[in-house]
This record gives sequence, C-alpha cells and structure tokens, in this order.
Amino acid sequence: MTTRGSKVGVVGAGVSGLVCARELVRRGFDVNVFDKGRVPGGRTATRMPEPGLAYDHGAQYFTARDPRFRELTADWLARGVVAEWPGRIVRLEDGAVIDTSPQPRYVGVPGMSAMAADLAAGILVRTGTRITAATRGPDGWTIVTDDEETVGPFNSLVVTAPAPQLRELLGSHPFGAAAATVRMTPCWAVMVAFESRLEVAWDGAFVHSSPLAWVARNSSKPGRDGETDCWVLHASPDWSAANVEAAPDDVAKELIGAFSLAVAERLPPPCYLMAHRWRYSHGSDPIDRRILFDREGGLVVCGDWLAGGRVEGAFLAAVRAAEAICGWNGPR
Ligand SMILES: Cc1cc2nc3c(=O)[nH]c(=O)nc-3n(C[C@H](O)[C@H](O)[C@H](O)COP(=O)(O)OP(=O)(O)OC[C@H]3O[C@@H](n4cnc5c(N)ncnc54)[C@H](O)[C@@H]3O)c2cc1C
Repeated sequence: MTTRGSKVGVVGAGVSGLVCARELVRRGFDVNVFDKGRVPGGRTATRMPEPGLAYDHGAQYFTARDPRFRELTADWLARGVVAEWPGRIVRLEDGAVIDTSPQPRYVGVPGMSAMAADLAAGILVRTGTRITAATRGPDGWTIVTDDEETVGPFNSLVVTAPAPQLRELLGSHPFGAAAATVRMTPCWAVMVAFESRLEVAWDGAFVHSSPLAWVARNSSKPGRDGETDCWVLHASPDWSAANVEAAPDDVAKELIGAFSLAVAERLPPPCYLMAHRWRYSHGSDPIDRRILFDREGGLVVCGDWLAGGRVEGAFLAAVRAAEAICGWNGPR
C-alpha cells in the first residue's frame, strides 16, 4: 500500500525524475533519487569549461503551454530561476534569413541547469551513481548501483532513463522490451567561443539543408556573461546518426565549416572549441502515453520520450507518474 512515508526510488534526476520526486515529497513520500551524472539536470545541462564561458549544450530553451507547466514557469520567473529569452530566432534557408513566429521562449538563469538545481532543492539526490539493475522481491524493489551496492527496498520505483537504456536496467520486465522498440536519435553539439564577435543580426537559427539543424549565440540569453561570444551548434539527427562514432575533434571541425557556410561568413578564430555527443537526444517517434505503469508491481516508467519529447513533455509525464504512485493501492 502506498501511503505517506512509503519509500519511492527514482532513477534519473532530469526534469522528469525531479518533478516526480518533488511532487511525491510534497505529498509525504520518502523519496530517494539516483543519477549517474555529476550534477542533476540530464539533458537540461549547462557546461562552464572556463571562467567566462558557458554553454547550454542540451536543451536550448523551453516553451510552456499546459496550465500546470505555465504555473511552474510563472513561479520560476518570479524567483529568477528562468527568464524569457527575447532573442531573434530565424530560419536559415538557401541563403535567406527568415524570421520565425514570435513566442515566449524561456531559459534557465544563468544556465539551463538552473531549473534542475531548483527542483532538486530539499530532495535526496545521489549523483554519480549509475543504476545497473532493478528487481522486485517480496519486500519491494531493490536497485543495484555500478559499485555493486544494493539499495532498497522501495515500495515503488520510478524510472526515467532514456528508452534504449531500460532493457538493461529492467532485465526481463516487459517494459524493457517495450522501450527497446523506441528509437532515440543522437545529437552532436559543438560549443565554440570566438575571439571577436560574429556579426550576424540574429541570436538563434534553425538551419536547413546543412549538417546543422540549430545554432545559437548562448551569450545572448539573459543572465549570461555576454563578454565572450559563445555559440552552441547542433547537428541534424541524420548527420549525427551518420557520424555517431566520429572523433569529437573531427566533428567540431566539420560543423564549424558547416556553420561558416550557413551564415555565409568567414568566422572569427575560435578560442574554445569542443564537441559533445548526446547519444540519446530525442525520441524519433514519441508516444503520447506519458507513462508506463505496472499496477501489479508498482513500477512507473516515464520521460520525455513518452510525452512529446521536450522539457514540457518531461514535466507532464512526471506529474502523471506522481499521480499514479499516489493513487496506487500496493501490490496485488
Ligand atoms: C541536444 C538537445 C537539444 C534539446 N533541445 C530542446 C529544446 O530546445 N527545448 C526542449 O523543450 N527540449 C529540448 N531537448 C529535450 C529536453 O532536454 C528533454 O526533453 C528533457 O530534458 C528530458 O528530461 P528527462 O528527465 O525525461 O530525461 P533526461 O534529462 O535525459 O534525464 C534522465 C536522467 O537519467 C539519468 N540516467 C539514465 N540512466 C541512468 C542509470 N542507469 N542510472 C542512473 N541515472 C541514469 C541520466 O543521467 C539523466 O540525468 C533537447 C535535448 C537535447 C539532447
């Protein structure tokens, strides 16, 4: 029976895991979150490799349509956790620069990771801990860490890892096999700083007919140190998939070349250049189910890949996951 005080394990401290954990803690559950990353945030990450340089190399910004997500966004805005990015966002298409329709785009301040830092406040999050297995026994769920520690039992378990990683984690549980059918595309991200400002009259661009899909002047986002001209370049899903095993230095050079072609400019010399591969970036066929819920065993699988594949989707899936745990009557 899940009641106040019931123990819940959550694998993953991205937006899904943290929103779910926060909701459960608010309702009196005893929640432990585990993440393999150094800090919470998952794909809403910010890298600060040197003083003055900062890059949101995963999620670029978010939009908010659902009333519940708008409510959280309004709270974040009021507390300065996020701000609206008033940047000019365009499409680069066959040499033309075309404005996109205006819509509020929000970013974490001073980086996208600010949202996760805020969500994680007051929650027990154990970072640097990869979970390698999860098993249900008579007392509930136990999980095994990468240094072979067994943790639990938990009355119920919420797993928010990207779909392709679930089979390994869940062993023979049918959700592992279901998730294995979901393809998630990779994305190569390049972080570059230029010695002098790149003179283009926009801040972010969706790029067409190029190895690149998106480029953004990170330093144009609010609350960033705008001194150094920092850019994030994202390769297209097709290019990323075709070059998934390429060496990061080669990827960086190639995508810088593509950037120069896309803006039809000679780029200023880079003073920082680094490529990062997101092996699981976006679900290619997002299923709109929000969660997979095993009512027999008290297992919930959730994540953006079940809910439209964006920050807002991750939030909505997590809210549904928390509701499922709260309404669950225990093992049959
Ligand atoms: C390059 C890129 C650009 C994007 N751009 C946008 C955008 O502009 N706007 C937008 O709304 N969304 C964007 N997204 C998508 C957005 O980042 C995601 O939808 C959202 O962050 C997903 O949150 P999540 O919690 O479901 O998953 P994740 O953030 O992936 O969190 C899952 C967490 O689980 C952890 N984990 C996985 N396996 C294990 C394990 N075995 N043990 C322990 N921990 C584990 C991971 O470390 C991770 O922290 C982008 C994503 C990428 C990669």
